Amino acid sequence: MSKKLTKRSEDYSKWYNELVVKADLAENSGVRGCMVIKPYGYAIWENMQAELDRMFKETGHENAYFPLFVPKSLFEAEEKNAEGFAKECAIVTHYRLKNDPDKEGKLMVDPEAKLEEELIVRPTSEAIIWNTYKNWIQSYRDLPIMINQWANVVRWEMRTRLFLRTAEFLWQEGHTAHATEREAIEEAEQMMHVYAEFAENFMAVPVVKGLKTESERFAGAVETYCIEALMQDGKALQAGTSHFLGQNFAKAFDVKYANKEGKQDYVWATSWGVSTRLMGALIMTHSDDNGLVLPPRLAPIQVVIVPIYKGDEQLDAISERVKPLIKELRAKGISVKFDNRDTHKPGWKFNEYELKGVPVRLAIGKRDMENNTFEVARRDTLEKEIVPADEVVDKIAALLEDIQENIYNNALNYRKEHITKVDTFEDFKEVLEVKGGFVLAHWDGTPETEDKIKELTKATIRCVPLDSQEEAGTCVFSGKPSNRRVLFAKAY
Ligand code: AMP
Repeated sequence: MSKKLTKRSEDYSKWYNELVVKADLAENSGVRGCMVIKPYGYAIWENMQAELDRMFKETGHENAYFPLFVPKSLFEAEEKNAEGFAKECAIVTHYRLKNDPDKEGKLMVDPEAKLEEELIVRPTSEAIIWNTYKNWIQSYRDLPIMINQWANVVRWEMRTRLFLRTAEFLWQEGHTAHATEREAIEEAEQMMHVYAEFAENFMAVPVVKGLKTESERFAGAVETYCIEALMQDGKALQAGTSHFLGQNFAKAFDVKYANKEGKQDYVWATSWGVSTRLMGALIMTHSDDNGLVLPPRLAPIQVVIVPIYKGDEQLDAISERVKPLIKELRAKGISVKFDNRDTHKPGWKFNEYELKGVPVRLAIGKRDMENNTFEVARRDTLEKEIVPADEVVDKIAALLEDIQENIYNNALNYRKEHITKVDTFEDFKEVLEVKGGFVLAHWDGTPETEDKIKELTKATIRCVPLDSQEEAGTCVFSGKPSNRRVLFAKAY
């Protein structure tokens, strides 16, 4: 397979699909809409998980695990949630095949093994979890409950794309229970901030924090907080959501607690999640026509060392030279790979690590051996320089920091250039068509206008930004009064 990618400017979507496959991140599988995450892609996901998990624990959460299946009667209990997910549910109806194949060798479903109650494969776990919390909560002393689970979920999506939208995806879902409304709202807000901090500090992806409108809200939530990112093609991506669920699930599952005065009240809830979609955000924000560009803080390999040699003797000498360097880098917590395979040429390896977005590449050949130097190349700008061996560790440590910051700033600058304020519907349409990105415009607050704008332009309200100021204006579409601008974009 050619390692060359379609250019982003030619066909962004093709570029993305090729990159995911050629960089060995993931591929389509034999199951419609479901992907295989390959070791290199999974290693990045594991690094994301590790940081998020640490952040969840630092904010007082614990991990647990709940079942994959939800009995239909439980699933139905919270009506809005059930309605919202009804069209995307996979349902288990039988538990056995007949083990005598028919004439064509096919194993048929055993009609005798029909489940008494159908099981829904979880699209999200509020139902099964609140049915459990009911048994865990009696009094205010049992609260709060702050639980997260790492799991897979299934949503029968019709149009799927690797990482961005798959029928089965990996995610974490936090589910918390609180004695007061205030505490639950604070928790939902806190987790939105945690997600934003993770996106910006680790993924180097700037995000806008905000609130979803009613029509974009999670089914069953009172309020949905979100982080929205902007991809290089000017389309937005919902990167994470945190929901204040009010008492909806507590009422549906009859979860009450006795407060300090002994009075019974329903419990307040939140849920929040980020998924393998974050991989898509990471890829689309930073990568270029040569391949992946990874933020050093999440890269599985931060530094690769490629020896350039003829014969075993030269390779042995280079190996001896790099041994203490590798040790020193690892002692500093920097992950290093010494690629001494003799099955591939240095030029092939250079291309391979460029495609895979390894932040820093060291090369060492005969001349470097004589001069006691390394050639150091950075993936983000593709710049190279010759560095004396005794300075190379400090150089690498500084470069990793610099790359992390540089790619964040590039993404931030792109986003700044692609947030456009508009005041007329003509400008609204033109900006979306010609320039793309986020459009900040006044909206009259009605779902009708939101729908109409979506129908005419394909743009949706990504969020009402948290930092938006009150400002008197008129809706770009209806001309009715509005008191703040909201963020529109075409989205993935
Ligand atoms: P939700 O439960 O709908 O609020 O979604 C939680 C998280 O999962 C959000 O960050 C979504 O962007 C993400 N997500 C939703 N649907 C999919 C999907 N089909 N594939 C990957 N990620 C998804």
